[in-house]
Amino acid sequence: MVNYMLKIIAELENLTNLQPQAGCDDPDFPYYFKLKCNNCGELSQKETCVSLGETVPMPNGRSTTNLVQKCKLCGREGTVLLIPGRGRALTLEASESGEYTPLMLFDCRGLEPVGFVFGDGWKAESTSGTKFDGIDLSQGEYADYDENGQFPVMVSNLRAIFVVDK
Ligand SMILES: [Zn+2]
Repeated sequence: MVNYMLKIIAELENLTNLQPQAGCDDPDFPYYFKLKCNNCGELSQKETCVSLGETVPMPNGRSTTNLVQKCKLCGREGTVLLIPGRGRALTLEASESGEYTPLMLFDCRGLEPVGFVFGDGWKAESTSGTKFDGIDLSQGEYADYDENGQFPVMVSNLRAIFVVDK
């Protein structure tokens, strides 16, 4: 079993605290990424979607996990379990200092997560305190205008990495 921490960074213009709509442990927030089989090295062709609130029985039937996926090439089954409580909102300070911020921890057995894809369901607030909900990052960036602060707000240059968490 290996734990992988998903870390993200983006360029934020007049925005801070970028995070899933209901916070970092949002049960409905969808994580999209591919999975590489530890047994044969096969990379899944399509992104898999997992979220904290969706659980399935473990192959042994004794507990639950968030994903059970069978490798198309070798048939080996692997599991992915999301571990809440380790994520933080991406702040303007972290963005400016180039510091990747942890979002979610994944306990992966038999599989390695690869290539996180940004989707819908984010929120952030502007430096004047205006809240922006339902931010969709699936196009790779987001732009709006803050009427309160009278300045543009923007999220761009999104990047994500999975780091082995020891
Ligand atoms: Zn395989």
